[in-house]
Amino acid sequence: MANIGFISLGCAKNQVDCERMMYRVQEAGHQVCAGIEGCDMVVINTCGFIDSAKSEAIDYILMTAGLKEQGRVGKILVTGCLSQRYQAQIMQELPEVDGVLGTGSYADVVSAIDRLLADEPVSLFGSIDAPELETGRIVTTPEHYAFIKIAEGCDNRCAYCVIPSLRGKFRSRQMDDVLYEARLLASSGVKELIVVAQDTSRYGTDFPEHQRLLPELLRQMCQIEELEWIRIHYLYPDEIDDALIDVIASEPKIVKYLDIPIQHCNSKILKLMNRRGDGQYLRQLFAKLRQRIPGLVLRTSVITGLPGEGEAEFEELCLFLKEMKLERVGAFPFSPEEGTPAAEMEHPDLETAQSRAAMVETIQSRIMDEYNEAMIGQTLQVLVDGYDEEFGQYFGRTYADSPDIDGRVWIASEEDLSEGSFLRVCIDGLVEGDLSGYVVEEDV
Ligand code: SF4
Repeated sequence: MANIGFISLGCAKNQVDCERMMYRVQEAGHQVCAGIEGCDMVVINTCGFIDSAKSEAIDYILMTAGLKEQGRVGKILVTGCLSQRYQAQIMQELPEVDGVLGTGSYADVVSAIDRLLADEPVSLFGSIDAPELETGRIVTTPEHYAFIKIAEGCDNRCAYCVIPSLRGKFRSRQMDDVLYEARLLASSGVKELIVVAQDTSRYGTDFPEHQRLLPELLRQMCQIEELEWIRIHYLYPDEIDDALIDVIASEPKIVKYLDIPIQHCNSKILKLMNRRGDGQYLRQLFAKLRQRIPGLVLRTSVITGLPGEGEAEFEELCLFLKEMKLERVGAFPFSPEEGTPAAEMEHPDLETAQSRAAMVETIQSRIMDEYNEAMIGQTLQVLVDGYDEEFGQYFGRTYADSPDIDGRVWIASEEDLSEGSFLRVCIDGLVEGDLSGYVVEEDV
């Protein structure tokens, strides 16, 4: 029995992969530790799809290597996208690393750990197209919400993206397995289930019948009594059909919040990036969604400085965002990733890409302020997430806020509030871009 510590970086999908490794390790009789100090082994589950993520992963590896040098941790096993992408280089360039696992070898984590503890070398890179083996998880999010990964990989092959080469072809999990996990999570206290994949809208299309099964999956999830909120991320614009819109509009448990990454709105750039749909299509889609789903909050992400983006195309993106008034937007400067077609194309320099991303953030912060100001005086349903010692207040989220990426509601309350409880909160102000309010009543 060894003490194993875990560090998980990157997206929610990677976090779920880490939770599954933790479960396998615990089932094998090892101790999964809350921190890394004093551990016999530290598993660093990395992200590696853009430069900033790569640097962060390397920083964590070097930080852990420093602890190793001081004898405060034992061995280091690197897993996830960075190891999948730089298989041989990691061990060559980071000799402090004892072993590497690719994204096709998560199920081998226990044998990898046992071999490393026996001082055997480990470098395992299984097929990234193989079906994922079902297993349990040690959920690392607060008890009342959890991510659920419904599929792995991606077939969209956007020209700037390395994910298909790191995560393989699109593979849906069997619906029974997803629902079994959803029920298990709900019975363990999860109230908010956040549905994730590289492309959730494609769920089921890789099964023999090639049907879009996300609507059916969501409908069945809504039958799970304990669940209160079901939130959907990573929808691909042109995969959103009437069946999906109907289930989102008609099921009260599905929060009226949709994450639909568009990356850009200029038709020439979208075509160049091998993305389907164009500016006109996106306008019509957003108008239709807003018309069919009252109170809808839209989240998206855009990339600035993509190949083909001159001043005119960037201006077009800014006008599009001002016109669409999307409530939540993440802006990322283009990161030319070796091995992608886009990296070979001419593109604005990093400085330009970064300053454009900053301009998008300015546009968006005005739109978000407008949205927040419109909330003042309203009484909203808020899910309590916790208490901030520093701020001295409870905080939570409305349906319009996904954990970690969106805003908060600061809740003034004399009483102690319990995490995971739903309250009716009257919004009476703004605090640094977040809403604030007081409890009106428990939301039973
Ligand atoms: S949809 Fe495009 S950007 Fe998203 S993971 Fe797939 S290839 Fe990458």
